[in-house]
Amino acid sequence: MTVWLARASRPPEFSTRIAGAINGHADVKGRPLAIYADLYAQDSTMGVCRSLHLAIAERAGLDHFIYTGTIIGGTRKFCHDNLGHTYTRAEIATMDNLSWHGKSAPPLTSCGGYNCRHHWQAMDPEWLDDPDPEEIQAALAQRNQPPAPEIPEVGEGDQS
Ligand SMILES: [Zn+2]
Repeated sequence: MTVWLARASRPPEFSTRIAGAINGHADVKGRPLAIYADLYAQDSTMGVCRSLHLAIAERAGLDHFIYTGTIIGGTRKFCHDNLGHTYTRAEIATMDNLSWHGKSAPPLTSCGGYNCRHHWQAMDPEWLDDPDPEEIQAALAQRNQPPAPEIPEVGEGDQS
């Protein structure tokens, strides 16, 4: 009797939704939503890291951020144009009024948007004598070079 009542009162789309959850829903192009798993994992992880970084920067009294990361073939114009530049938190917040391809959320926590690999690195302008975005971009490009040979570790207690 209880089973019959439950079947009789369920919304008509309920079975369809359960089947979709089991078999995989599709996007507007009919592709399974599972293809977005990596994207959601990347964006949620980066969003948490960026939020933590912003909170720690605030506690440290740092209000300036330099846009860091590398340039690859698919780098968005927003990311390319801002790499190596320094902004205040308020200036970055106003960038939310801009629009660009791939934008997903406010740039303070999402940077360039979906699948963005870039980062707002907290800093104090006094740490740089004369910030030069070109010089900073060149230094960031150096990061793509093979790592320098490892320096042998000095064991604990061996501090001669
Ligand atoms: Zn980016």
